[in-house]
Amino acid sequence: MMAWSGRVILLDIEGTVSEIAFVHQVLFPYARQNVEGFLGSSSARPEVRDVIELMAKDAGASHSSSWCPFPVESPEGVAWLVQQVHDWMDRDAKLTGLKALQGFIWESGYRDGSLRSHIFPEVPECLKRWTSSGQTVAIYSSGSRAAQKLLFAHTTAGDLTPWISAYFDTTSGGKRETTSYHTIARQLGVPESSVLFLSDIPEELAAAAGVGMSTGLVIRPGNRATDDQRHPRIHSLEEITVSQ
Ligand SMILES: [Mg+2]
Repeated sequence: MMAWSGRVILLDIEGTVSEIAFVHQVLFPYARQNVEGFLGSSSARPEVRDVIELMAKDAGASHSSSWCPFPVESPEGVAWLVQQVHDWMDRDAKLTGLKALQGFIWESGYRDGSLRSHIFPEVPECLKRWTSSGQTVAIYSSGSRAAQKLLFAHTTAGDLTPWISAYFDTTSGGKRETTSYHTIARQLGVPESSVLFLSDIPEELAAAAGVGMSTGLVIRPGNRATDDQRHPRIHSLEEITVSQ
């Protein structure tokens, strides 16, 4: 058990509240399978056109018309775009336009009910208990804030967003950088020492500990094994006991 008497519990997502396999075995295959249907039905939407322009820039073109050999709304254009996207996903390319497109596809899947995010079973009750004990619950993940909110709004255990007060992504800095944790504490309006950060990655915890945050190393099925001994080990969020 781990006693906590600070004010904020800051949570990582992947490997902490959601299984790593969800991202790799559900989210990414879902995006891949639905690129064609999504672009076929939505490539005329202004925000999707903007994403196609971003992908053209990712590919080094100034405009989609000088990137795609067909009009992007035509069946030939959609088929060509699908092939590009699949190639990028095969190479696990970290491209802005590709990430934005995946975000749109996931959003449409969450909204039509064909996609639900995995959450470890004790998480909903812990979030509720912590918030009713006066804790602020916040999220820090490398996925975009919009993607984080979608994930928590559409879990297998229902909508968890009522128990989450703030979302931070890499616009606050990288997760292994000390300054990011300073920025997050400042944005939350609390001293670093009143924040408990829980993550499955020792390097992230070391960065948070570097500014004075408390830390817990989360051990879950499917996580990479670690022999790190610098942080208390947590196997379930129920091990955190909150006192005021
Ligand atoms: Mg993680």
